[in-house]
Amino acid sequence: MVIVSRFAPSPTGGLHLGHAWSAIQAHDRARDHGGRFLLRIEDTDVTRSRPEHVAGILQDLEWLGLGWDEMTVQSDRLALYDAALDRLRDDGLAYPCFCTRAEIAREVAASLHAPHGPDGPLYPGTCRSIDPATREARMAGEPFAWRLDAGEAARHAGALTWTDEVAGTMPVEPLMLGDLVLKGKDRPASYHLAVVVDDAAQGVTHVVRGRDIMPSTHAHRLLQAVLGLPEPVYRHHALVLDTPGNRLAKRHGAPTLADWRAQGMDGVALANALRAGTLPAGFSFDR
Ligand code: GLU
Repeated sequence: MVIVSRFAPSPTGGLHLGHAWSAIQAHDRARDHGGRFLLRIEDTDVTRSRPEHVAGILQDLEWLGLGWDEMTVQSDRLALYDAALDRLRDDGLAYPCFCTRAEIAREVAASLHAPHGPDGPLYPGTCRSIDPATREARMAGEPFAWRLDAGEAARHAGALTWTDEVAGTMPVEPLMLGDLVLKGKDRPASYHLAVVVDDAAQGVTHVVRGRDIMPSTHAHRLLQAVLGLPEPVYRHHALVLDTPGNRLAKRHGAPTLADWRAQGMDGVALANALRAGTLPAGFSFDR
């Protein structure tokens, strides 16, 4: 089997050491076995994505010595995501949602049993039960998103697992992210929909990414099952932390790879040190 892996950054900011670690592992997972390494720019968050960050990502990867076989940009592929949404809609697994953020927050606050996910309350399902006539009328005059009916999807899919090279066989909790957004009011496709469509369309066999994305993998396996897409092998790797023990993020002031490039650091030497398990001073792995 030819191993196909990918690095799939969102161009919403500069890459940092955690991204470098992820890119190196995805790259090496394929290249160590003569496989293919793909670069996919995940820019469906149209309000936050910036062309200058795309340019920076390419420079960062070259600086680290990571060459890719093929580069795709999600904003060129919106028709694929619409086709997947059509299929979910035809199968009765997607519904329009008219709620604003404020309405969702009010609904959650008023509910005693609001479902919770890894990052807090999940969408309470308000628009799932709107009757068809009202739905049609509201669609003609109000902005709306499309959501997955996760409960119905779980019934269609039956019991699921995923294979993780680090964690072993993982049982899927199909309601982990609840009725997630498939297409937003101002977002042409959600991360979850686009990522499963592209991993399948591009023949990705190994999804290598940080452990922080593991909760989403439950939802990705559910989407793969109901869309009839193949199941890749996953590798959710350890994260890089700063000295206070935070995950790296711009809001915590993590230095970017571009900062280090500008200071004249040797990117290939950095990549090789990471491969050997050595991090720059001030960073550690979340083992
Ligand atoms: N665009 C996602 C991110 O930057 C990619 C996650 C994935 O590899 O599936 O977090």
